[in-house]
Amino acid sequence: MQRVFASIENNKVVLSEKDERHLRHVLRLKVGEEVEVVSEGKSYLSRVSRIEPFALEIVAPITEKRELDHSLTLAWSLLKGENNDWIVMKGTELGVTEFLPFISDRTIIKADLHKEDNRLLRMRKIVESSSMQCRRSIIPEVKEYQRLSEVLDLPFDHKIIAYEGMNGESKTLIKLMKGIQKGESILLLIGPEGGFSDKEVALCVEKGCEMVSLGRRILRAETAAIYGAALVGALSEEE
Ligand code: SAH
Repeated sequence: MQRVFASIENNKVVLSEKDERHLRHVLRLKVGEEVEVVSEGKSYLSRVSRIEPFALEIVAPITEKRELDHSLTLAWSLLKGENNDWIVMKGTELGVTEFLPFISDRTIIKADLHKEDNRLLRMRKIVESSSMQCRRSIIPEVKEYQRLSEVLDLPFDHKIIAYEGMNGESKTLIKLMKGIQKGESILLLIGPEGGFSDKEVALCVEKGCEMVSLGRRILRAETAAIYGAALVGALSEEE
Protein backbone atom coordinates (compact mmCIF):
# COMPACT_ATOMS: atom_id res chain seq x y z
CA MET A 1 0.00 0.00 0.00
CA GLN A 2 1.21 3.50 -0.80
CA ARG A 3 2.20 5.61 2.19
CA VAL A 4 2.24 9.38 2.67
CA PHE A 5 3.07 11.74 5.51
CA ALA A 6 0.30 14.35 5.73
CA SER A 7 -1.73 16.35 8.18
CA ILE A 8 -5.34 15.63 9.08
CA GLU A 9 -7.70 18.54 9.61
CA ASN A 10 -11.37 17.96 10.48
CA ASN A 11 -11.04 14.35 9.38
CA LYS A 12 -9.71 15.51 5.99
CA VAL A 13 -6.30 14.51 4.70
CA VAL A 14 -4.25 17.55 3.69
CA LEU A 15 -1.61 16.44 1.20
CA SER A 16 1.42 18.35 0.00
CA GLU A 17 1.30 19.32 -3.67
CA LYS A 18 4.13 16.92 -4.38
CA ASP A 19 2.37 13.95 -2.76
CA GLU A 20 -0.95 14.75 -4.42
CA ARG A 21 0.75 14.89 -7.81
CA HIS A 22 2.47 11.58 -7.10
CA LEU A 23 -0.75 9.78 -6.08
CA ARG A 24 -2.83 11.24 -8.91
CA HIS A 25 -0.50 11.43 -11.85
CA VAL A 26 2.29 8.97 -11.20
CA LEU A 27 0.44 6.16 -9.41
CA ARG A 28 -2.89 7.07 -11.03
CA LEU A 29 -4.89 5.90 -8.04
CA LYS A 30 -8.60 5.37 -8.59
CA VAL A 31 -11.59 5.91 -6.30
CA GLY A 32 -11.63 3.23 -3.60
CA GLU A 33 -7.89 2.49 -3.65
CA GLU A 34 -6.15 2.47 -0.27
CA VAL A 35 -3.38 4.74 1.00
CA GLU A 36 -1.71 4.69 4.41
CA VAL A 37 -1.61 8.20 5.85
CA VAL A 38 0.87 9.02 8.61
CA SER A 39 0.09 12.09 10.67
CA GLU A 40 1.69 13.23 13.94
CA GLY A 41 3.16 9.81 14.64
CA LYS A 42 -0.08 7.89 13.97
CA SER A 43 -1.02 5.83 10.91
CA TYR A 44 -4.42 5.64 9.26
CA LEU A 45 -5.94 3.56 6.52
CA SER A 46 -7.53 5.88 3.97
CA ARG A 47 -9.28 5.51 0.62
CA VAL A 48 -9.42 7.72 -2.42
CA SER A 49 -12.92 9.18 -2.28
CA ARG A 50 -12.70 11.60 -5.20
CA ILE A 51 -10.33 12.41 -8.04
CA GLU A 52 -11.32 15.99 -8.93
CA PRO A 53 -10.57 17.60 -6.54
CA PHE A 54 -8.42 14.78 -5.21
CA ALA A 55 -9.52 13.57 -1.76
CA LEU A 56 -8.64 10.80 0.64
CA GLU A 57 -11.08 9.74 3.36
CA ILE A 58 -9.92 8.20 6.62
CA VAL A 59 -11.24 4.68 7.11
CA ALA A 60 -9.60 3.54 10.38
CA PRO A 61 -6.49 4.01 12.47
CA ILE A 62 -3.70 1.47 12.01
CA THR A 63 -2.34 0.45 15.39
CA GLU A 64 0.93 -1.25 14.47
CA LYS A 65 3.81 -0.13 16.67
CA ARG A 66 6.85 1.01 14.74
CA GLU A 67 8.78 3.27 17.08
CA LEU A 68 11.23 2.38 19.87
CA ASP A 69 10.12 2.42 23.51
CA HIS A 70 12.76 5.09 24.23
CA SER A 71 13.49 8.31 22.45
CA LEU A 72 16.99 7.99 21.00
CA THR A 73 18.98 11.02 19.88
CA LEU A 74 22.05 9.99 17.91
CA ALA A 75 24.69 12.72 18.07
CA TRP A 76 27.85 12.21 16.06
CA SER A 77 30.77 14.34 15.07
CA LEU A 78 30.31 15.22 11.41
CA LEU A 79 32.39 12.82 9.30
CA LYS A 80 34.12 12.89 5.94
CA GLY A 81 32.48 11.78 2.70
CA GLU A 82 29.35 9.71 2.57
CA ASN A 83 29.54 8.43 6.12
CA ASN A 84 27.03 10.99 7.42
CA ASP A 85 24.52 9.79 4.80
CA TRP A 86 25.05 6.20 5.91
CA ILE A 87 24.50 7.12 9.54
CA VAL A 88 21.17 8.85 8.94
CA MET A 89 19.92 6.22 6.49
CA LYS A 90 20.75 3.22 8.68
CA GLY A 91 19.91 5.08 11.89
CA THR A 92 16.42 5.78 10.53
CA GLU A 93 15.90 2.09 9.81
CA LEU A 94 17.09 1.25 13.32
CA GLY A 95 14.60 3.59 15.01
CA VAL A 96 16.66 6.69 15.89
CA THR A 97 14.27 9.47 16.97
CA GLU A 98 16.47 12.47 16.16
CA PHE A 99 19.87 13.07 14.55
CA LEU A 100 22.26 15.63 15.88
CA PRO A 101 25.48 16.21 13.93
CA PHE A 102 28.01 18.14 16.00
CA ILE A 103 31.39 19.78 15.60
CA SER A 104 34.12 18.71 18.00
CA ASP A 105 37.84 19.46 18.49
CA ARG A 106 38.92 16.83 15.97
CA THR A 107 36.13 17.18 13.41
CA ILE A 108 38.00 17.21 10.09
CA ILE A 109 35.51 18.78 7.71
CA LYS A 110 34.44 22.39 7.77
CA ALA A 111 30.81 23.23 8.42
CA ASP A 112 28.99 26.34 9.58
CA LEU A 113 27.23 26.10 12.90
CA HIS A 114 23.43 26.57 12.95
CA LYS A 115 23.23 26.67 9.14
CA GLU A 116 21.51 24.49 6.58
CA ASP A 117 24.01 23.50 3.91
CA ASN A 118 23.60 21.07 1.03
CA ARG A 119 24.99 18.25 3.11
CA LEU A 120 22.31 18.79 5.77
CA LEU A 121 19.50 19.10 3.23
CA ARG A 122 20.64 15.87 1.58
CA MET A 123 20.63 14.09 4.94
CA ARG A 124 17.06 15.27 5.57
CA LYS A 125 15.94 13.93 2.18
CA ILE A 126 17.59 10.59 2.91
CA VAL A 127 15.84 10.40 6.29
CA GLU A 128 12.49 11.17 4.69
CA SER A 129 12.74 8.45 2.07
CA SER A 130 14.23 5.98 4.51
CA SER A 131 11.34 6.64 6.96
CA MET A 132 8.89 5.93 4.19
CA GLN A 133 10.66 2.75 3.16
CA CYS A 134 10.91 1.27 6.65
CA ARG A 135 7.40 2.37 7.66
CA ARG A 136 8.32 4.76 10.45
CA SER A 137 5.48 6.62 12.16
CA ILE A 138 7.58 9.76 12.33
CA ILE A 139 10.24 11.38 10.16
CA PRO A 140 13.24 11.78 12.48
CA GLU A 141 14.57 15.33 12.56
CA VAL A 142 18.13 16.12 11.47
CA LYS A 143 19.16 19.14 13.53
CA GLU A 144 21.52 21.87 12.35
CA TYR A 145 25.18 21.52 13.33
CA GLN A 146 26.00 22.47 16.91
CA ARG A 147 29.07 22.54 19.09
CA LEU A 148 29.58 19.52 21.33
CA SER A 149 29.23 21.81 24.37
CA GLU A 150 25.78 22.95 23.16
CA VAL A 151 24.64 19.36 22.70
CA LEU A 152 25.72 18.56 26.24
CA ASP A 153 23.49 21.32 27.61
CA LEU A 154 20.33 19.86 26.05
CA PRO A 155 17.98 18.03 28.41
CA PHE A 156 17.95 14.21 28.27
CA ASP A 157 17.18 11.57 30.90
CA HIS A 158 20.43 9.79 30.00
CA LYS A 159 23.53 11.05 28.24
CA ILE A 160 25.90 8.38 27.01
CA ILE A 161 29.31 8.83 25.45
CA ALA A 162 30.83 5.98 23.46
CA TYR A 163 34.48 6.01 24.43
CA GLU A 164 37.06 3.52 23.29
CA GLY A 165 39.84 4.60 25.62
CA MET A 166 38.98 2.59 28.72
CA ASN A 167 40.58 -0.70 27.78
CA GLY A 168 37.30 -2.53 28.19
CA GLU A 169 36.86 -1.16 31.70
CA SER A 170 33.85 1.06 31.10
CA LYS A 171 30.33 -0.34 31.26
CA THR A 172 28.99 -1.90 28.13
CA LEU A 173 26.04 -0.18 26.49
CA ILE A 174 24.00 -3.34 27.07
CA LYS A 175 24.57 -3.18 30.85
CA LEU A 176 23.77 0.51 30.97
CA MET A 177 20.52 0.08 28.99
CA LYS A 178 19.28 -2.45 31.56
CA GLY A 179 19.04 0.40 34.10
CA ILE A 180 17.10 2.73 31.79
CA GLN A 181 13.28 2.81 32.00
CA LYS A 182 11.07 2.59 28.93
CA GLY A 183 9.90 6.00 27.80
CA GLU A 184 13.06 7.78 28.92
CA SER A 185 15.14 9.86 26.53
CA ILE A 186 18.67 8.85 25.60
CA LEU A 187 21.46 10.87 23.99
CA LEU A 188 24.20 8.72 22.43
CA LEU A 189 27.40 10.56 21.50
CA ILE A 190 29.88 9.22 18.95
CA GLY A 191 33.23 10.90 18.34
CA PRO A 192 35.04 11.81 15.09
CA GLU A 193 37.54 9.71 13.11
CA GLY A 194 40.30 10.73 15.52
CA GLY A 195 38.17 10.24 18.64
CA PHE A 196 37.18 12.71 21.38
CA SER A 197 39.94 14.83 22.92
CA ASP A 198 40.72 14.32 26.64
CA LYS A 199 39.26 17.74 27.32
CA GLU A 200 35.99 16.76 25.65
CA VAL A 201 35.77 13.47 27.52
CA ALA A 202 36.23 15.40 30.79
CA LEU A 203 33.54 17.90 29.77
CA CYS A 204 31.12 15.08 28.89
CA VAL A 205 31.63 13.50 32.30
CA GLU A 206 31.23 16.88 34.01
CA LYS A 207 27.92 17.34 32.14
CA GLY A 208 26.62 14.04 33.43
CA CYS A 209 27.46 11.63 30.60
CA GLU A 210 28.08 8.00 31.32
CA MET A 211 30.93 6.39 29.39
CA VAL A 212 30.27 3.17 27.56
CA SER A 213 32.32 0.69 25.64
CA LEU A 214 31.10 -0.69 22.34
CA GLY A 215 33.30 -3.75 22.63
CA ARG A 216 36.94 -4.75 22.58
CA ARG A 217 37.83 -3.46 19.16
CA ILE A 218 38.13 0.12 17.94
CA LEU A 219 35.29 0.73 15.53
CA ARG A 220 35.26 3.35 12.83
CA ALA A 221 33.04 6.25 13.82
CA GLU A 222 30.26 5.36 11.37
CA THR A 223 30.28 1.72 12.50
CA ALA A 224 30.16 2.87 16.14
CA ALA A 225 27.13 5.09 15.39
CA ILE A 226 25.20 2.37 13.60
CA TYR A 227 26.19 -0.37 16.07
CA GLY A 228 25.32 1.85 19.05
CA ALA A 229 21.91 2.72 17.57
CA ALA A 230 21.27 -0.96 16.82
CA LEU A 231 22.08 -1.99 20.40
CA VAL A 232 19.87 0.69 21.95
CA GLY A 233 17.10 -0.18 19.47
CA ALA A 234 17.27 -3.92 20.14
CA LEU A 235 17.18 -3.47 23.93
CA SER A 236 14.46 -0.81 23.69
CA GLU A 237 12.16 -3.17 21.80
CA GLU A 238 12.76 -6.12 24.12
CA GLU A 239 9.55 -6.91 26.02
N1 SAH B 1 40.78 7.71 18.47
C1 SAH B 1 40.58 6.40 18.03
C2 SAH B 1 39.44 6.09 17.09
C3 SAH B 1 38.17 6.79 17.33
S1 SAH B 1 36.84 5.83 16.79
C4 SAH B 1 41.87 5.91 17.42
O1 SAH B 1 42.17 6.27 16.27
O2 SAH B 1 42.53 5.18 18.10
C5 SAH B 1 35.60 7.02 16.58
C6 SAH B 1 34.52 7.03 17.61
O3 SAH B 1 33.83 5.79 17.63
C7 SAH B 1 35.01 7.22 19.04
O4 SAH B 1 35.15 8.58 19.37
C8 SAH B 1 33.92 6.54 19.86
O5 SAH B 1 32.85 7.43 20.10
C9 SAH B 1 33.45 5.42 18.96
N2 SAH B 1 34.08 4.11 19.25
C10 SAH B 1 34.82 3.35 18.41
N3 SAH B 1 35.15 2.18 18.98
C11 SAH B 1 34.59 2.19 20.21
C12 SAH B 1 34.55 1.23 21.28
N4 SAH B 1 35.18 0.08 21.22
N5 SAH B 1 33.90 1.59 22.41
C13 SAH B 1 33.27 2.77 22.50
N6 SAH B 1 33.26 3.69 21.53
C14 SAH B 1 33.90 3.42 20.39
